Amino acid sequence: MTTPTRAVVLGGGWAGMLTAHVLARHLESVTVVERDILPDGPHHRKGQPQARHVHVLWSSGAGIVENLLPGTAERLLAAGARRIGFQSDLVTLTAWGWQYRFPATAYAMMCTRPLLDWVVRDAILAGGRIEVEHGTEAVELAGDRSRVTGVRVRDAGGGEPRLLEADLVVDATGRASRLGHWLAALGLPAVEQDVVDAGIGYATRMFKAPEGADGNFPAVQVAADPLTRQPGRFGVVYPQEGGRWLVTLTSTRGAPLPTDEDEFTGYAKVLRHSIVSELMSVAEPISPIFQSHSGANRRMYPERMPQWPEGLLILGDSLAAFNPVYGHGMSSAARAAEALDKELARDGFGEGGTRQVQRALSEVVDDPWIMAGLNDIQYVNCRNLSSDPRLTGPDVAERLKFSDFLSGKSIRSPKVCEVTTSVLSLNAPQKALGDSRFLSLLHTDTSHPKLVEPPFHPEELEMVGLKPSGIAAKGALS
Ligand SMILES: Cc1cc2nc3c(=O)[nH]c(=O)nc-3n(C[C@H](O)[C@H](O)[C@H](O)COP(=O)(O)OP(=O)(O)OC[C@H]3O[C@@H](n4cnc5c(N)ncnc54)[C@H](O)[C@@H]3O)c2cc1C
Repeated sequence: MTTPTRAVVLGGGWAGMLTAHVLARHLESVTVVERDILPDGPHHRKGQPQARHVHVLWSSGAGIVENLLPGTAERLLAAGARRIGFQSDLVTLTAWGWQYRFPATAYAMMCTRPLLDWVVRDAILAGGRIEVEHGTEAVELAGDRSRVTGVRVRDAGGGEPRLLEADLVVDATGRASRLGHWLAALGLPAVEQDVVDAGIGYATRMFKAPEGADGNFPAVQVAADPLTRQPGRFGVVYPQEGGRWLVTLTSTRGAPLPTDEDEFTGYAKVLRHSIVSELMSVAEPISPIFQSHSGANRRMYPERMPQWPEGLLILGDSLAAFNPVYGHGMSSAARAAEALDKELARDGFGEGGTRQVQRALSEVVDDPWIMAGLNDIQYVNCRNLSSDPRLTGPDVAERLKFSDFLSGKSIRSPKVCEVTTSVLSLNAPQKALGDSRFLSLLHTDTSHPKLVEPPFHPEELEMVGLKPSGIAAKGALS
């Protein structure tokens, strides 16, 4: 295939916009087809219901965005986003106990999802090289089994389909992608897919942070312990722009999600520590409670198809969506955009054509896929509908044992923590955990004594008017 000249990107969300930006660096014309009217500001919209819930952008993704769109981080920070250092700006109870607040070696951007998307989209569209068909829905692919030649679209409100011709079509329509149906209509077989579904649900409410705790209070997390074989319950309090805290309570299958104010308050109280509930009690709720049930890990394998049409790519949540607890969706999409940029910069769509590029995009999702899958299969009631031998094979118990040992070490040993944090943030590949230097570090790194209460600095507790005795009482771990 020669290098494409005209691309249509389906979906103007996070993955679609970053992809369009990269394509516009190499191609003559790029059009984004988006069902919603994209707002000119940090506002919610129908096609992105997950934006009501906490979103962190790991430093791996933030770094790629900064490379592609210099100045983005500064604009986000100026708008009130927080750059939370891992582990220095975080108070977190893991399944293995409280995490020491070691000096930060990675970070996550924390702000509302509408702000994040708007700042990035605004910078992308300011380039003036991308056309957006707002309020327009993709309904089917044009072409045949061997080549996609465009897409049929219609007004989101209905009406007659019309053809947008393109020599490259990218599916970035997210978890609700209809690509399977579109391929079937071209006469192609179903794409293989894997699902690992722990039944993750989110319930989220926005709070106004107490005066004085709006600029530098740490992010707070209380994780579940899957090894108890009880349905998992997590809770987080993440700082957001505008002096707000977003509180998300999460469950795995079997723990009903809270729907009203009383249930929300009650749910926070039964987490493995009372800190989330304590913080809620000193903050003012300012939004309704929103729920999400889009937490299954699902991965498509287009690279395994016996035949893949030229001129078609799939990325973002359409290709692989993860349990959001790990915060990997947006960074993976950014890494896919970076991989596409490299492929195009090297030789356009050279020898291997689209299939070769799709293979590169699929490689990018492997680390977050295996990380999330391996963690999630430990939850009671998790549905493991995966054919991936790393999640079903005879060495799974051994892998879980290693991961358990590593996590227990990581909360108390600074150098081990640095490596695991860089893998978790997708700054380093998963294989770094098998490196011989790292394996010897596991036995030589300092191991600090176990923390028995949340590692707040005294001035942080003062900011929110909580007493150390109050917060240590209920949840101190043995
Ligand atoms: C509750 C929750 C919390 C999350 N938290 C995090 C987090 O902390 N960190 C993180 O990195 N990720 C998180 N994620 C994942 C993250 O939201 C996604 O990975 C990310 O939004 C993927 O972007 P996308 O562009 O692939 O899909 P989306 O953002 O879903 O965008 C798809 C777009 O396609 C449009 N569209 C759909 N169908 C059509 C059509 N037929 N025609 C035209 N347009 C169409 C939609 O309107 C939408 O704009 C979370 C997800 C959930 C559900």
